[in-house]
Parts: sequence; structure tokens; C-alpha cells
Amino acid sequence: MSELLIHQFPCLGDNYGVLLHDEASGQTAAIDAPDGQAVLDALKDKGWSLTHILVTHHHADHTQGIGAVTSKFDCKVIGPTDTMSRVPSIQQGVDDGDSFDFAGHSVRVIGTPGHTLDMINFYFADQGVVFTGDTLFAMGCGRIFEGNPSMMWASLQKLMALPADTVIYCGHEYTQANADFAMSVDGGNPELQKRVEIVKALRAAGKPTLPTVMQVELDTNPFLRAGDAGIRKNLGMENADDAEVFAEIRGRKDNF
Ligand code: ZN
Ligand code: FE
Repeated sequence: MSELLIHQFPCLGDNYGVLLHDEASGQTAAIDAPDGQAVLDALKDKGWSLTHILVTHHHADHTQGIGAVTSKFDCKVIGPTDTMSRVPSIQQGVDDGDSFDFAGHSVRVIGTPGHTLDMINFYFADQGVVFTGDTLFAMGCGRIFEGNPSMMWASLQKLMALPADTVIYCGHEYTQANADFAMSVDGGNPELQKRVEIVKALRAAGKPTLPTVMQVELDTNPFLRAGDAGIRKNLGMENADDAEVFAEIRGRKDNF
């Protein structure tokens, strides 16, 4: 199976855009369209022509660039079925459990409601890559705007079940702030302490901290570590269930 080329670029304040390109067929997909001009510039940089836009959720910082891009490229816009009424440029609706083809690669749709109810993530199993939108961030997870904590916890567990070497691209560079919060609930975790230094150095050099890898998140992302004895002890929640611990961590981050 041929390997897709992946190009990540920062845009807006702290968003990431991502392009996926298949050399053999020339097909190129954008994950979301946070900023139309930035997507067009990235395509020009790479010399790629856009054929697909894969939309994770309805928020403007993921969809507002679609019109600018589709006015230049005749591309297929695939997104959550729930969102087709709000974002009429979506031509093909997909839902949790669906699969579709991109350049000969099967793309699995994973519904991860919580940040929004319509959120979907795109898993390219043959590439070992997942695009998590605003569900899972490096050392963080999306703020819960439309769902509830138990829904978000169930969504994160679906992602946690992916292979540990899965490469994760997400919608935002929030890693430094997430690291500061992670230290407040899991400061004794040596893997976290090491990662905090790596992140500091990357940001000081103006470099992205993404993509990340599932095993690194399992080891250092407090939102995936509701079952961890150390975090539970720090929170005084040794006997709570994982969803309650997750809800407590999410609530603390909202007020951090
Ligand atoms: Zn969002
Ligand atoms: Fe966002």
C-alpha cells in the first residue's frame, strides 16, 4: 500500500490545517478548512490539486474556508451527516462506523461526540494515522460544548482503543497550555515531566508539537489517564469510576 504524504501547516491563531496527498493518483484531501487562503497557499506550496475536504465538525474555525477552496477546486466535501443542514457545502454525509475510499485507502469514520455532537474523526488504518479534530489534543481534549463528560469519555476510549503506534493529527496547537495543566494533576509522572521539557523546547524554537502518537498520549495526557492510580490519588478519587475521574479532570481544566 502506497504511503500518503501528509503536510501540516499552522493557520489562524492556533489552528492546524492538514493536506493528504496520494502521488500515484494525484488525489489530495484537506482535513477541515480553517482558513481558505491558508489552504490554497499550502496547496500551491506543494503543487497539489485538491480533490477532497474531510470535515470533522461544524465550528467555524474548521469550516469557514470551505467556500474559498471549493471556488478554486472542484472537490468532494465529506462531513458529518448531522451538519449538512448547517454547512450546506458538505456533499456526502458520513456517520460513526462508516467507511469510504480516498485514493484507494479505506477511511474509517469514528464518531467522537462531546466537544460537539456532530464530531467525527477520520482513521486511515493502512497508514496508522487518525485525524481527531477537536476531540483529542496533545496532552488535552476538547472543551465540552454540546455533549457531557461521560459522552466525551466514551469518545476518547474509542480513540484509546486504536493501535498504540497510531499517529495523531488534531485541530489546534494547545500543547503548552495543556502541559501546564497536566502537571497540576499528574506532576509526579516522569514521562510527563520529560515531555513537558520537550514541548517547551519545541515551542521556544517555534516548532509544532504535533503530530503526536497514541502511546505518548496514553502515558502523558491526563484526560486519557482517568484510570491511573497516581492521578486518582492526587484528586482524592481512589474509588470513583473512570468517567467520574475524567469529569473532574475536565472540570478542573475548564477553570485552570
Ligand atoms: Zn471546535
Ligand atoms: Fe477548533
